[in-house]
Amino acid sequence: MLIDGHGRSVNYLRVSVTERCNFRCRYCMPDKPFSWAPRENLLSFEELFLFIKASIDEGINKIRITGGEPLLRTDLDGFIKMISDYKSDIDLALTTNGYLLPQTAQKLKDAGLKRLNISLDSLKPEVAQQIAQKDVLKDVLKGIEKALEVGLKVKINMVPLKGINDNEIVDILDFCKERNIEVRFIEYMENALAADDLKGLLGKEILEKVKEKYTISKIGREGESPSFSYLTDDGYKFGLIDPHKHDFCEDCNRIRLTAEGNLIPCLYFDEAMSIKDAVQSGDVPKAVEILKTVLKDKPKENRWNDEDSETSSRAFYETGG
Ligand code: SAM
Ligand code: SF4
Repeated sequence: MLIDGHGRSVNYLRVSVTERCNFRCRYCMPDKPFSWAPRENLLSFEELFLFIKASIDEGINKIRITGGEPLLRTDLDGFIKMISDYKSDIDLALTTNGYLLPQTAQKLKDAGLKRLNISLDSLKPEVAQQIAQKDVLKDVLKGIEKALEVGLKVKINMVPLKGINDNEIVDILDFCKERNIEVRFIEYMENALAADDLKGLLGKEILEKVKEKYTISKIGREGESPSFSYLTDDGYKFGLIDPHKHDFCEDCNRIRLTAEGNLIPCLYFDEAMSIKDAVQSGDVPKAVEILKTVLKDKPKENRWNDEDSETSSRAFYETGG
């Protein structure tokens, strides 16, 4: 079992397989042109898998593949199969913008993927385009339907933004309710790479919007998930992730690995240590030692609620959210 410096047990590894993306969501990527890390800087799937195997042996039992847009990476289904063949009962999930799911959902399912989180910020084509800076809605909706059709368990992520999509909170909830899938509303997390003019809704403001149509009751957290569950009066369960309250930090169970091999102990902070040299030279014990060092120094809590602290400069497209 992996234990961090604050006595929290860590069993959840989030692996970003690329920082590249086919969207440019305004809350995630800078407007200004910037260059991606060269492909040769990325760890290969074999190298990532060496570390994943060792992490599973150390007690990781939950893995989420993310990005950038993970479906852009060629042979992702082969990578998923490597993991699920190694430990078939691992809780293996993927977060995607959904755009490429019509072509990939079946292969992902066949490779052993069980669960998918798909980001859906609007049901209006022009608003989805305003956020992603591309005409995406039609394909994302097709992607959601395809994932459901092949039997993947789907959850939807929505980031409500003031004056942009905050009037669609109930519409997205109803869209998910009709399909019997859970939506999770995620507070916008300010970061230095996002557009300056964005303002997110706090958790309580998101709940106020839901209350315009529904009476809701709080269920609470399930396990160490950062999401708090709520129930509408007609029995639909939805989630809220409100990092500005950071209640969930006290039992944070996660560690993040970037596509370039950096281990990141907290989404808010810049600190990271690289396992790249260790895995590329086949020195797996060294990579595990680095993992344990990173966990020893894992911060106690994020600072999204701390008005005196600087805006986080961690790029979501690099860490995978
Ligand atoms: N490209 C995939 C996607 O969009 O689902 C996976 C990577 S994306 C970085 C993972 C999640 O982070 C998405 O649900 C996205 O909405 C969320 N995210 C990105 N930037 C965010 C921000 N500044 N605040 C809150 N959530 C953010
Ligand atoms: Fe791409 Fe996901 Fe970031 Fe949007 S949130 S730009 S889809 S990585």
